[in-house]
Amino acid sequence: SKITIAIDGFSSTGKSTLAKQLAKELGYVYVDTGAMYRAITLFAMRNSFIGNGEERLEDLVKLLPKINLRFVPNAELGFSEMYLNDENVEKEIRTMQVSKFVSRVAEIEQVRYKLVEMQKNMGKEKGIVMDGRDIGTVVFPDAELKVFMTASPQARATRRYKELLDRGEDVLYKDVLENVEKRDFIDSHREFSPLRKAKDAIEFDNSDMGLKEQFERLLSIADR
Ligand code: C5P
Repeated sequence: SKITIAIDGFSSTGKSTLAKQLAKELGYVYVDTGAMYRAITLFAMRNSFIGNGEERLEDLVKLLPKINLRFVPNAELGFSEMYLNDENVEKEIRTMQVSKFVSRVAEIEQVRYKLVEMQKNMGKEKGIVMDGRDIGTVVFPDAELKVFMTASPQARATRRYKELLDRGEDVLYKDVLENVEKRDFIDSHREFSPLRKAKDAIEFDNSDMGLKEQFERLLSIADR
């Protein structure tokens, strides 16, 4: 029978690539919770609540009920895309600009409350693979399978750097490394649901492990 799979870990450990493949293989729904925090951040940036040296996060909190987030399946791509108030923001939320501010926005208690509620609702039916930072600890503490992924900062920055270059962004490796390390620090030190490994999560260091090997290992665990 179907289960709930929670995949947590540091930035750019390859969580989403792996989670997507796992969902596809098992015929499960895949949910990228980072996309939700990124979409709220994009909204905040567009309204000048954050960025350019500004920070008016109380104003963001006031508008939270007006922010509508939706995942819309794209059959051609084989996965869902993030919509912010009916606009497809899938590309824009992946930029370095959004990455710079997302961890700051993700610290806000009311933001987390809104998104965790949505995520819990999406998981009411089993057969879901969700990736993020607090899925195994806060969103689905009873998930049947929990994975905590780690990799060296260099392996992670290299992965993110390649992704950004592939998308045509003009970035420097050192800035990507700095961003990954900074986000990990904020994510694991914040007050509300900080990033940490759930007690019953399987730890998975994939610095030197290929995607195929990671995938097969997880699948054998999920099938048990
Ligand atoms: O997974 P991704 O790198 O896209 O996540 C972007 C950011 O969103 C993280 O660095 C973190 O600050 C925040 N996040 C979070 N909780 C989650 C998922 C993402 O705080 N469940």
